[in-house]
Amino acid sequence: MLETVKEPLFAAYNVGHALQVKEALASSELYKVVQCAPAVRVSLAEEFGFPYGSLTPGKMAAALRRLGFDRVYDTNFGADLTIMEEGNELVKRITEGKDLPMFTSCCPAWVNYAEQEYPELLHHLSSCKSPQQMSGVIFKTYGAKIDTMDPAKILSAAIMPCTCKQFECTREEMADSGYRDVDVVLTTRELAQLIKDKGIDFANLPDEAFDLPLGNYSGAGAIFGTTGGVMEAALRTCYELITKEKAPRIELNFVRSGEGIKTAMVRAGELELRVAVVSGLKNAAKILEDVKAGRCQYHFIEVMTCPGGCINGGGQPKFLLPEYREEAVRSRKASIYEHDSRLKIRKSHENPDIQKLYEEFLGEPLGHQSHHLLHTEYVARKGQN
Ligand code: SF4
Repeated sequence: MLETVKEPLFAAYNVGHALQVKEALASSELYKVVQCAPAVRVSLAEEFGFPYGSLTPGKMAAALRRLGFDRVYDTNFGADLTIMEEGNELVKRITEGKDLPMFTSCCPAWVNYAEQEYPELLHHLSSCKSPQQMSGVIFKTYGAKIDTMDPAKILSAAIMPCTCKQFECTREEMADSGYRDVDVVLTTRELAQLIKDKGIDFANLPDEAFDLPLGNYSGAGAIFGTTGGVMEAALRTCYELITKEKAPRIELNFVRSGEGIKTAMVRAGELELRVAVVSGLKNAAKILEDVKAGRCQYHFIEVMTCPGGCINGGGQPKFLLPEYREEAVRSRKASIYEHDSRLKIRKSHENPDIQKLYEEFLGEPLGHQSHHLLHTEYVARKGQN
């Protein structure tokens, strides 16, 4: 049951967009915590004259600190956490032979579409909240504890590649700790505008690290920003959950190329895991019709609304000419995979700060505390936007 959501201190600011965030950032009463989606670090620099797809997580972290955020944490950490929950959920469903196929639930535009158009299939969606919402609820619970902060004083901000993330954070049920998981969402372009308004010289910022522990992430978390990334990240963990052996390969090229609907069979011990990666809602509808007709053979299906994934989201930097889009998306995607390949830890379950979070606070994946804070339910929304 949803408890009454307590009014946070910053409610007086009526935060809702960049100008109001500016006001909140100037407040000495608030403890300002921010997270950035994986796709933002490969596009933000384009707003400052850098080539398409420039990878600048260090400058982005430095800029957020100079804007006045007290903690620069990361959605990529939440992506690792999502894999822990979603991977275990998939294995449980396969073991029990229940509610298959399982669809990913990290794209709120896709979730909204399923709620409106296919309410009878909602039990096929993973009950996991998105990385944005998982990060937010952890900031206001475990994060508040380790920073000895009153959650009522925490402003939880997120920088995201699209405005549907703004809708997601306002969903009534996204407040399981008693406080809103995420209070305000800015798009990549809105963040760039804030940086410009503050006169921050982005190009000459030093590279700075994200704050620990909630800004520590694996390569699996980093690839969430592109289509196929959630699937690849999940398979890196699921293979080991199922077989109890090291995955023979980290980079799964069969989910990296192509568009529309990509399918594959992955052998994990005795199991032939059948997966699909879907980009665009028209393609999702085809699969949903198959599920309805009982002829869908997959175990696990990733769906992202934007062609190419979040790197191509509507809140990302615009292009001077539409024909530049393809080049930009290609470059951003290459940077995402480059970022993954440079990281020492590339599997979500090997992120030591994720392991510590379970040891010190959550217990185990799909356990009581995880279920309460990190999972949600979907509702039929026929006729609603
Ligand atoms: Fe937003 Fe597009 Fe990413 Fe979905 S795929 S979360 S709509 S940017």
